[in-house]
Amino acid sequence: MSTTDTSAPAASGGRDQDFLAPAARLRGAGIGGLEELSDIERSDRLARMRDGSLGSIHSWELVTAVDGPGTRMTVFLNGCPLRCQYCHNPDTFLMKDGEPVEAEELLRRMRRYRGVFRASKGGITLSGGEVLMQPAFAGRLLEGAKKMGIHTCIDTSGFLGANASDEMLDNVDLVLLDVKSGDEETYKRVTGRQLAPTIAFGDRLAAKGIEIWARFVLVPGLTDDPENIEKVAQIIERWRNVVSRVEVLPFHQMGTDKWDALGLNYTLRDVPPPSPELVESTREVFRSHGFTVH
Ligand code: SF4
Repeated sequence: MSTTDTSAPAASGGRDQDFLAPAARLRGAGIGGLEELSDIERSDRLARMRDGSLGSIHSWELVTAVDGPGTRMTVFLNGCPLRCQYCHNPDTFLMKDGEPVEAEELLRRMRRYRGVFRASKGGITLSGGEVLMQPAFAGRLLEGAKKMGIHTCIDTSGFLGANASDEMLDNVDLVLLDVKSGDEETYKRVTGRQLAPTIAFGDRLAAKGIEIWARFVLVPGLTDDPENIEKVAQIIERWRNVVSRVEVLPFHQMGTDKWDALGLNYTLRDVPPPSPELVESTREVFRSHGFTVH
């Protein structure tokens, strides 16, 4: 979900581009300075990834007013089971394409930013790719952050919600939960996967009282059918007690170069961004369900 993509509309900023992250945000944090582990034996590396002391990440960066409240250190983990047609970070699809990073190294960095997090009411966000592809690694980061008193957030599709243990969720303050469509068939067309696990994960979060920001990417001709939008709203209503905001994120053409560079078939090449009217009428649907909408 590379920090060095200079085609990104950093100047346009704002919530509308959030789902483009991190391409839309240029902080240059990247993975510079993190210990490289290319000399570790493969088997040892796999064992350490299983126990979570080592993870595979795309990059990390410091951002403000995206990925949760305040200033955040967002870590983009590699690996995702979905193949969203509008994905702007297809270079995070595969875990093997990421950089190996020690959990302890990331935790040391988080510790350094504690003052920033405190002053801005921010914290850390684990994003991707899909954070729940590496539950042991994510669990260590979340536990370590909580022990330092840092606000924690995960950004997920929920498809792998079953990978999140109750112990892990005890260390999560906020979930940015993507509801990529409300209609089963549309969800499958958008992501290549099923909708049900997302609903089950949201239900679990609601039962545990964990705050959710629900997110929906509006793509003309793909997700903008009024019935689909209404169904998204109805799904989010299930979690009303914990949903503090709904974000409608307008599709933009941002990831084309990455899809091409990877030799993948990008299907939305000719799709325009949604009109401001369509964005507003979509937000209005969620408002009519009583939600605070961004
Ligand atoms: S969930 Fe979809 S948009 Fe997010 S990284 Fe995976 S494929 Fe890309």
